[in-house]
Formats: sequence, C-alpha cells, structure tokens
Amino acid sequence: MRIPGSLVLANLPTSIERLGRLSEELGVNVFVKRDDQTGSEITGNKVRKLEFAIQEALDQGCDYLITCGGIQSNHARATAAVAAKLGLGSCLVLRSSGGDNLEGNFFFGKLLGADIRFVTPVEYRESRMDIMKEITEELAAKGHRAYIIPEGASNGIGSFGYFKALEEILGQEKELDVKFDAVVATVGSGGTYAGLFYANKGHNNSGKVYGINICDDAEYFKDKVVGLIDEMNGYTGQELNYNRNELNIIDGYVGDGYALSRHEELEFIHWFARLEGIILDPVYTGKAMYGLVEEIKKGTFKDCTNILFLHTGGIFGWTESARLAFADLG
Ligand SMILES: *Cc1c(COP(=O)(O)O)cnc(C)c1O
Repeated sequence: MRIPGSLVLANLPTSIERLGRLSEELGVNVFVKRDDQTGSEITGNKVRKLEFAIQEALDQGCDYLITCGGIQSNHARATAAVAAKLGLGSCLVLRSSGGDNLEGNFFFGKLLGADIRFVTPVEYRESRMDIMKEITEELAAKGHRAYIIPEGASNGIGSFGYFKALEEILGQEKELDVKFDAVVATVGSGGTYAGLFYANKGHNNSGKVYGINICDDAEYFKDKVVGLIDEMNGYTGQELNYNRNELNIIDGYVGDGYALSRHEELEFIHWFARLEGIILDPVYTGKAMYGLVEEIKKGTFKDCTNILFLHTGGIFGWTESARLAFADLG
C-alpha cells in the first residue's frame, strides 16, 4: 500500500518487552511496546504522527507550525521540540483556566522556544481552528507561511505514523517469534487508533487492535476514526474495506474526566510501577493500562495468548498537582 513520505525524527524501532511479573499475575502474556522511548524531548506517540505531518508542512514550503492542546499537551511539547530542531517557528494554542504552574509539558514548550497563546476552555472548544487561522494570517503579514496541525496531530496525514508503527510491530513479531492476538492503545484524539487499525486491516492481520478511550465515549471515537480512515483513503488512493463494528473501542475508563485522576487509578499506577519498574502517566496510559488489566480480569481477552500494550508516553504529565494527588496514598 502506498503511503505518504515522512521525516525521520523518532528512535525507531521502539522495543517490545514482556511484562513477566504482570503476566504471571494475570495468567496471560502481556507485552509492552516502549513508545515512551521514542526520544526524550519528543517522548511518546505524537512524534510518529509529526514525522508525517511535518513532512507535509515542509513539502508545502511552510516555516512555522501552529498547533493546539491542553496546557499539559504532550503533542504541543513534541511539536515545539521538532520545530526547534528543524529551524521552524512554533506557536502553541493552549487551553487553560488560569493558575497553572510553569512545569511539565508547558514548561518544556516554553524552554523549546514556542510562542504560547492561552485560550479559555470555551474558546478552545468552540473556535480553536479559527484562532489558529487568525494566527496564520498574523504570521503571513510578517512573511511566514504557517502549517496548522490539529489537536494531537490526529488527522489523516498524522495517523500514518501509527500505520507505520503497526508495520513495525508485524516485523517484530517475526523477530521475536510471537504472535500478538491483541494490540491495545490509549485513545485520546483517535489518530493512533486509526493508524493502527488501517494498517492492521490493510495487511489482513489476524490480531485485533483495541482502543481504550480516556475521554468522550466509544461512539464519539468510532465516528472520529471513520472520518480519519476516509481521510487516509485520500492519501493511499484505496478504499479500506472494513466495517464500523470492527472498531474495538472499550469504554468505561474515562473516570472523572480528561486529566482528572481517581484514587483507584493512582493506586494502580503505583502498584504497576512497583511491579514492573515502568512509570505510566496519569492522563492517558495509567487509565488505559488500568482498563486493560480490569478487562483481562473480566474475561474480555480470554481467547488471547499474547497481548501487546502500547506505552504511548506522557511522563511530563506528572505535574505538581498530579504528584500531590499521591499524598493521599501514603
Ligand atoms: C496523545 C496521547 C495518547 C492518545 O493518542 P491519540 O492518537 O490522541 O488518540 C496516548 N498517550 C499519550 C501519552 C498521549 O500523549
């Protein structure tokens, strides 16, 4: 299948490790793919999507990147890092209700030289695209050509980062001599899932791709993924042959909402860190891995021998407020 060209930014392939102690605990082989190790400043899943999106920006002759996200957006920080490396300008439109500490992803975004613009949650929800377009005009008046990357780089072009990641996994299955019955990823804006699903179907792989959403709900993301697959079809020049009900998105682990942690999630992250020596993040992977373990216990994955969880990063999401939530745990 023909896919668009991309930059080389991430440390690939990321390793796949068997979680020995967790596997023993659950009675099934659980593996983790360390996409938290795609790099330091660029840690996490967003850089794979940026490899494709920013190639498109360069092809269009752009010298500035504009993107958006929450105050602690991993995607915004990764964009700022890549922009600096490539000598491009970056502008981050961040959602904030005020009173945020200068730390985590927000701090690194600043350190990496991004021009940061705050918007209120309402402005973000209703008019972030208009705001980014206005900034494009403002930059054009100064002689710059800006490229807008939507939230999470979850558009058709960005999703190819995880198309390529799924192909990487298929190659690693051969090397490791293991077949993953399930590949499980966190769903936050849908691009990671869409890319994995597209390549999985495109290659007729027998393993299934599951997503666990950490905001909104499963129906919202199925609609979103259908839209992303349509966009991807525009690049591959093929119609992916699939059915909407093959989109396996497991709902029920949003908890108190986006970036809000419940006691049981934090306790789980603490338990998992001591069990495997791996730190999950409170916003994405902590909730999804908690969900995966709960679903394994419930029997959702009873037909599986080998399950692969994608650690999509998020270490800088351990802000002071997230760390303080641990004070309760003793
Ligand atoms: C953005 C993000 C996700 C979700 O990926 P999407 O492609 O937005 O669904 C998962 N984990 C981490 C750490 C992220 O930053």
